[in-house]
Amino acid sequence: MSTPAVTAMQRGLQTCEVCGLLSRPLPGEHAGRCPRCDGELEFRKPDSVQRTWAYLIAAAICYVPANLLPVLTTTTAAGAESDTILQGVVLLWSPTGWPLSLIVLFASIMIPSAKIVAMIYLLITVQRGSIANNAQRIRLYRMVEFIGRWSMVDVFVDAFTAALVQLQPLMSVAPGPGLFFFAAVVVLTMLAVESFDPRLIWDAVSVKEVRDA
Ligand SMILES: [Zn+2]
Repeated sequence: MSTPAVTAMQRGLQTCEVCGLLSRPLPGEHAGRCPRCDGELEFRKPDSVQRTWAYLIAAAICYVPANLLPVLTTTTAAGAESDTILQGVVLLWSPTGWPLSLIVLFASIMIPSAKIVAMIYLLITVQRGSIANNAQRIRLYRMVEFIGRWSMVDVFVDAFTAALVQLQPLMSVAPGPGLFFFAAVVVLTMLAVESFDPRLIWDAVSVKEVRDA
């Protein structure tokens, strides 16, 4: 069984997110300033759940046009062609083989949607005060945080352009409207991950332990 752990918040201690100093705010004050670096101190990221929801919903909405609208318009001697991400994946398959095609598929379609689903799961369990699978949930959060670096717009653009250059003489490449929404998905999911406070995962357990003690 787990031993009850006292959180810094229960002791009235705050960690500075800038320099890491643990300090106690002056009595009566809601949130103070870090005595060492003057950074603003909060027990938990303010409105973490609401802000994360807002970013996630916005990301989910942008995910639809990101996949439905063309991301690139390429002009060759044969004419102009606009392709969505998925069409790009299909187009990449035959000239370059499956590895590049799969990288684009993972980086641009699977990873962003997996991130959105994972964050929704974390938010719902935190809001319901779940005390189950805490270790797995923090691992999931770390994974989403780590993977964030790999869902990049340029992965798609680079791979796609490189393949097209090999295929035929390319006259011009222009970004399509889907690229804007795709960039928005990447930025919004990064903001969602950033605004989520992983300490919330453990707060329900701490509350229960205090109640049971
Ligand atoms: Zn500080």
